[in-house]
Amino acid sequence: MLNMERSKELFTMAREIIPGGVNSPVRAFKAVGMDPLFIKKAKGSRVCDVDDNSFIDYVCSWGPLIMGHAHPQVVAAICRAAELGTSYGAPCKGEVELAQMICEAIPSIEKVRMVSSGTEATMSAIRLARAYTGRNAIIKFAGCYHGHADSFLIKAGSGLLTAGVPNSPGVPAALAQQTRVANYNDIDSVARIFDQSSDVAAVIVEPVAGNMGLVLPEPGFLKALREITEQYGALLIFDEVISGFRFCYGGYQNITGITPDLTTLGKIIGGGLPVGAYGGKQEIMDLIAPEGNVYQAGTLSGNPLAMAAGIASLKLLQTDNFYHELEATAANLTNGLKKILADHHLKYSLNHIGSVFCLFFTSEQVADYISVLSCDTVKYADFFRSLLKEGIYFPPSQFELCFVSSAHQTEDIQNTLLAVDKVLDKIS
Ligand SMILES: *Cc1c(COP(=O)(O)O)cnc(C)c1O
Repeated sequence: MLNMERSKELFTMAREIIPGGVNSPVRAFKAVGMDPLFIKKAKGSRVCDVDDNSFIDYVCSWGPLIMGHAHPQVVAAICRAAELGTSYGAPCKGEVELAQMICEAIPSIEKVRMVSSGTEATMSAIRLARAYTGRNAIIKFAGCYHGHADSFLIKAGSGLLTAGVPNSPGVPAALAQQTRVANYNDIDSVARIFDQSSDVAAVIVEPVAGNMGLVLPEPGFLKALREITEQYGALLIFDEVISGFRFCYGGYQNITGITPDLTTLGKIIGGGLPVGAYGGKQEIMDLIAPEGNVYQAGTLSGNPLAMAAGIASLKLLQTDNFYHELEATAANLTNGLKKILADHHLKYSLNHIGSVFCLFFTSEQVADYISVLSCDTVKYADFFRSLLKEGIYFPPSQFELCFVSSAHQTEDIQNTLLAVDKVLDKIS
């Protein structure tokens, strides 16, 4: 049994003064039927809680930590920056440096604006798209998550899908009507919306859907989105907050060769500090204040510590073979998982790309929101709790990704596979 004494104490105190005891919903572990662990420290592939339990971590802060926790070079860069002041509210060199790195890595980004979260990036990107096109509606996909701005909390993934409440109260109906929902990997569902409306400003999509578990784009889907948005004069926004710098040094768009009008980034580009960014064609980006009149600002935007962490991270990602080695580690794990499933005669779906994967407790091929909903979330919760007891920390929801980092060692992978084998024996 896990000793959770101190975590429980903290959670009891937290619930008195923080809604649900957490500052982001999925962290509360509600979907897996237990109280959350309070983390004391983390290093490399491991997190350690306040009761001194240590876990191999596959959440990795939900995506940013592609090099694992507390990478020495990232930590050193943050410390050096902090010595020079934590925030200026005035331009600093790091902002120019990180912007240059992003524009060089992702050719569709001619100009970029730094913000402090992925939510800010996507929220600002659709404001910009609306201003540029003079139209009001946006198209998003069921099960995709683009942060918590009002326009996106319609059939949303991540915590909303986990809670079973995909539309948030508090979003004015008049605004919600401006969000049209299409089905991922179903271009006809997009065409139907364009057929009925000439008011679509933009289509926003996760080019690899990572907030309803993992759903890969089917061949031709993203290209068809590019074509149809061009045909109707709407913008195509790739939300690469997860996929940016996850699969190559650049966006997933670099791999597909598809050029969106706007791209949103976050997570990895902040090296574990609060960062987001949005960028794209110069002609569109120049509408943003103070160049243009589309307002968007931030007290901590381009924060020097965050810029330093981002720059240090991206430099490390430029190391020869970084992605190759990371993906080899992840493949060891996913191949091992497939073998275990086969040995146990279990027909669960495993979706995998690069260094991310999701084990779905369903026998269906998972390719969209509908198939995601066929998962046995009770069984997943059982699987999660059992793994935790073995020292393996998977996401506390069926609908989130497992992230492998470059800090995960062969031994971590072997220990994980042994634990999964033991656990599946018991629960299935
Ligand atoms: C995490 C995420 C966001 C929101 O980013 P925050 O930094 O949590 O606001 C937006 N889009 C996608 C695809 C994400 O995964």
